[in-house]
Amino acid sequence: MKNKISVAAGTSKNNKTGAWRSYRPEIDFEKCTGCGICESVCPEPCISNSHKINKMGKEVRQIDYDYCKGCGLCAAECPFKAISMKIEKK
Ligand code: SF4
Ligand code: SF4
Repeated sequence: MKNKISVAAGTSKNNKTGAWRSYRPEIDFEKCTGCGICESVCPEPCISNSHKINKMGKEVRQIDYDYCKGCGLCAAECPFKAISMKIEKK
Protein backbone atom coordinates (compact mmCIF):
# COMPACT_ATOMS: atom_id res chain seq x y z
CA MET A 1 0.00 0.00 0.00
CA LYS A 2 1.32 3.42 -0.90
CA ASN A 3 2.30 5.67 2.00
CA LYS A 4 0.18 8.78 1.71
CA ILE A 5 2.03 10.74 4.39
CA SER A 6 5.58 10.89 3.04
CA VAL A 7 6.51 13.63 0.59
CA ALA A 8 9.12 13.19 -2.11
CA ALA A 9 12.26 15.33 -1.83
CA GLY A 10 12.21 18.62 -3.67
CA THR A 11 8.43 18.82 -4.00
CA SER A 12 7.97 21.94 -1.94
CA LYS A 13 8.09 24.00 -5.13
CA ASN A 14 4.51 22.78 -5.44
CA ASN A 15 3.71 23.59 -1.80
CA LYS A 16 4.87 26.85 -0.29
CA THR A 17 6.87 25.95 2.81
CA GLY A 18 7.91 29.42 3.96
CA ALA A 19 5.24 29.51 6.66
CA TRP A 20 6.86 26.53 8.43
CA ARG A 21 10.08 28.40 9.12
CA SER A 22 11.36 29.19 12.63
CA TYR A 23 14.67 30.56 11.34
CA ARG A 24 15.30 32.62 8.26
CA PRO A 25 18.59 32.61 6.35
CA GLU A 26 19.88 36.02 5.35
CA ILE A 27 22.68 36.56 2.87
CA ASP A 28 25.21 39.31 3.48
CA PHE A 29 25.57 40.44 -0.12
CA GLU A 30 28.97 42.02 0.48
CA LYS A 31 30.42 38.74 1.82
CA CYS A 32 28.93 36.52 -0.89
CA THR A 33 31.45 35.40 -3.50
CA GLY A 34 28.83 33.82 -5.75
CA CYS A 35 30.44 30.38 -5.38
CA GLY A 36 27.04 28.66 -5.55
CA ILE A 37 27.69 26.13 -2.78
CA CYS A 38 24.55 27.20 -0.91
CA GLU A 39 22.54 26.65 -4.07
CA SER A 40 23.92 23.15 -4.50
CA VAL A 41 23.25 22.03 -0.89
CA CYS A 42 19.77 23.53 -0.52
CA PRO A 43 17.26 20.65 -0.35
CA GLU A 44 14.68 22.84 -2.03
CA PRO A 45 15.36 24.74 -5.23
CA CYS A 46 14.97 28.09 -3.54
CA ILE A 47 18.43 29.70 -3.90
CA SER A 48 19.33 31.24 -7.22
CA ASN A 49 21.64 33.74 -8.86
CA SER A 50 20.25 37.23 -8.28
CA HIS A 51 22.40 38.62 -11.12
CA LYS A 52 23.16 41.55 -8.80
CA ILE A 53 26.81 42.48 -8.48
CA ASN A 54 28.35 43.33 -5.11
CA LYS A 55 31.38 45.53 -4.39
CA MET A 56 33.71 42.57 -5.01
CA GLY A 57 32.22 42.26 -8.49
CA LYS A 58 30.55 38.93 -7.62
CA GLU A 59 27.06 37.84 -8.63
CA VAL A 60 25.31 37.27 -5.31
CA ARG A 61 22.76 34.56 -4.57
CA GLN A 62 19.20 35.22 -3.46
CA ILE A 63 16.66 33.18 -1.47
CA ASP A 64 13.03 32.62 -2.39
CA TYR A 65 11.39 32.85 1.04
CA ASP A 66 8.12 31.41 -0.24
CA TYR A 67 9.84 28.03 -0.41
CA CYS A 68 12.76 28.19 2.05
CA LYS A 69 11.97 26.00 5.05
CA GLY A 70 14.75 27.34 7.25
CA CYS A 71 16.79 24.14 7.56
CA GLY A 72 20.06 26.10 7.86
CA LEU A 73 22.13 23.91 5.53
CA CYS A 74 23.06 26.88 3.35
CA ALA A 75 24.38 28.81 6.36
CA ALA A 76 26.31 25.79 7.65
CA GLU A 77 27.97 25.13 4.30
CA CYS A 78 28.76 28.66 3.11
CA PRO A 79 32.59 28.79 3.25
CA PHE A 80 32.55 32.58 3.57
CA LYS A 81 30.06 32.82 6.46
CA ALA A 82 27.89 35.02 4.28
CA ILE A 83 24.61 33.48 5.49
CA SER A 84 23.26 33.90 8.99
CA MET A 85 20.13 32.36 10.47
CA LYS A 86 17.80 34.86 12.13
CA ILE A 87 14.71 34.10 14.20
CA GLU A 88 11.69 34.39 11.95
CA LYS A 89 9.31 37.17 12.91
CA LYS A 90 5.76 35.81 12.58
S1 SF4 B 1 27.79 29.65 -0.36
FE1 SF4 B 1 27.99 31.71 0.57
S2 SF4 B 1 29.51 32.77 -0.72
FE2 SF4 B 1 28.80 30.97 -1.87
S3 SF4 B 1 27.11 31.76 -3.16
FE3 SF4 B 1 26.20 30.99 -1.26
S4 SF4 B 1 26.07 32.79 0.12
FE4 SF4 B 1 27.48 33.29 -1.54
S1 SF4 C 1 17.60 27.42 5.01
FE1 SF4 C 1 17.50 25.41 3.94
S2 SF4 C 1 15.73 25.59 2.57
FE2 SF4 C 1 16.27 27.67 3.19
S3 SF4 C 1 17.64 28.44 1.59
FE3 SF4 C 1 18.93 27.55 3.22
S4 SF4 C 1 19.30 25.43 2.61
FE4 SF4 C 1 17.54 26.19 1.40
